Amino acid sequence: MRRGRGQVLYKFLPEQVVDYSDKEVIGKVARWHAKELSGIDMTRLMSVVRNSASRFGTRTEGFPHGWSPGDFVMLEPTSIELDLFPLTFFCKECKGAYRFTSVNEFRHKARDHDYRCPRCHKGGLEQADLVHYHTCGNLETLVVPKCHDHGDAFISLEKFGSNAIKRWMWQCLNPAHPRGTLDLVRVGAHCFKHTPSERMAHAPFRQGDVYYPESITMVNVPPLGVEGPVDETLWKLVLGEYLGLASAGTAQKNASVGSRASAATSIQETRDRLIKEGVDPALFDRSPSTGQCPSGVHPWSWLPPRSLNTNKLLPLSQLHRLRTRCEEQRDQQRSA
Ligand SMILES: [Zn+2]
Ligand SMILES: [Zn+2]
Ligand SMILES: [Zn+2]
Repeated sequence: MRRGRGQVLYKFLPEQVVDYSDKEVIGKVARWHAKELSGIDMTRLMSVVRNSASRFGTRTEGFPHGWSPGDFVMLEPTSIELDLFPLTFFCKECKGAYRFTSVNEFRHKARDHDYRCPRCHKGGLEQADLVHYHTCGNLETLVVPKCHDHGDAFISLEKFGSNAIKRWMWQCLNPAHPRGTLDLVRVGAHCFKHTPSERMAHAPFRQGDVYYPESITMVNVPPLGVEGPVDETLWKLVLGEYLGLASAGTAQKNASVGSRASAATSIQETRDRLIKEGVDPALFDRSPSTGQCPSGVHPWSWLPPRSLNTNKLLPLSQLHRLRTRCEEQRDQQRSA
């Protein structure tokens, strides 16, 4: 199945849990095949990423230990693979709960009964959308506890007719048990990626705090509000704004006026200021069209503006280099 790059970058990130085929099946992005993008100023990019990550404070779990730009690569996805996840299922007939340890085990055990309940062999299996998750990034299939006397043979999730997950409890349905709270076990699991282990929260995977992508805008393309494709002139003005050479809103103003003459004046002014800053204007003069752009950009560096009806991408690697040089030269001038 084909997915657009934008969809992959926001909905199919590594380890992300997603509804697949109209909510019939839930899966987790298990493998991300990608090609490396070259010509990216990783030093600048990583300084922005690191700065953004710093708002998570001193937490180190899940973050790189060093932020050396040489340790990072920029990737463009080419294909992705999903695994069935979570691996806990409920029988629609006998209400039994099953947690499989792997996709292979699920295939092996469920196939024998035509993918029906391994206990009653009649009921259809419904995939649980509940997962355990932890601040360290650990995401796990819902843990089904075992009864001291009967193992997992009669375990069921008692919801007490409530939608509040906090109230739900596990119960062993074996008739040998006297009915009472002793048979009930709280829903929960521990994350063993720490010593001592820590308790994990649980929620439907679609809940916002279970997984969300972080993105950084490095080139903030203004809402240009034009219907047709954005031409070279406007891109140059966007570029000028990014470099801090044109005042904010220049590109938008020219887009709305639609006058080539005023755009040309703005570009000339921008270019003059570039030269005054002592920067080689060659990069600015080069066409910022698709031909010179990297074929894809990373979510860290690019947010597609909704209002733009275009597939054009800014030549980010050139931009970063140019901006870095601008800043270096300004710093030199200041310290001189
Ligand atoms: Zn059953
Ligand atoms: Zn953890
Ligand atoms: Zn029991």
